[in-house]
Amino acid sequence: MSSDRIIYDITPFTHLDYPGKLAAIAWFVGCNMRCMYCYNSDIVFSKEGEYTPDDLFGFLSRRKGLLDGVVLSGGEPTLHDLKPLCEKIKSMGFSVKLDTNGLNTGRIRTLVETELVDFIALDFKAQNGKFGYITGSSRFESFKETLMFLSASKFPFEVRTTVHPDLLQPPDINKMMQTLEEAGYRGTYYLQRFIPTPNTIAQMEAPASSFDESLLEKSVPLQWR
Ligand code: SF4
Repeated sequence: MSSDRIIYDITPFTHLDYPGKLAAIAWFVGCNMRCMYCYNSDIVFSKEGEYTPDDLFGFLSRRKGLLDGVVLSGGEPTLHDLKPLCEKIKSMGFSVKLDTNGLNTGRIRTLVETELVDFIALDFKAQNGKFGYITGSSRFESFKETLMFLSASKFPFEVRTTVHPDLLQPPDINKMMQTLEEAGYRGTYYLQRFIPTPNTIAQMEAPASSFDESLLEKSVPLQWR
């Protein structure tokens, strides 16, 4: 298999993953985190996928007029050099949304400053003490640098957190909202409930703990998905 098979799979159509747009999703192999609740472990641990960027372009050329945009997801798409790929997608007339965990600040900055992405969904996994435990990464400061950069740039982006009540409780989310506020984030903060699925990275089961939403301070606009 060729080493440019960096796309695990292509979802041909979604109206849920790119706000206001009909989009395809390209799922990129590999990730620099190992989130305990991750249900995409096959993608995270893959070194090669089924498709090359050229396969994606071929697919998109047959979807002109039917789709508005493309979601780059994974895995962590920024492990790959997305610049030429985004240039091609944009030249074909599609908008680009990037799903990212925010660790590759340099690459995200380049994509924003060269206007090769139109929207970003940034995962805020946890605050300092729990970040490493939940993600397997010690690079909270890299995430924070991305958050600060995006907030300062006024680029359209959203922040979201997956909530497994055995891992995150209202005081954690309150602290994370405080971080968002201090960073100057002015958008909606989306919380997503963990949904038990087989084959998560840490074989997470349904939460044993409850989550008392009344303890959330709502210091930034908050919405559950
Ligand atoms: S949930 Fe975590 S491990 Fe899974 S793809 Fe996203 S960042 Fe990577």
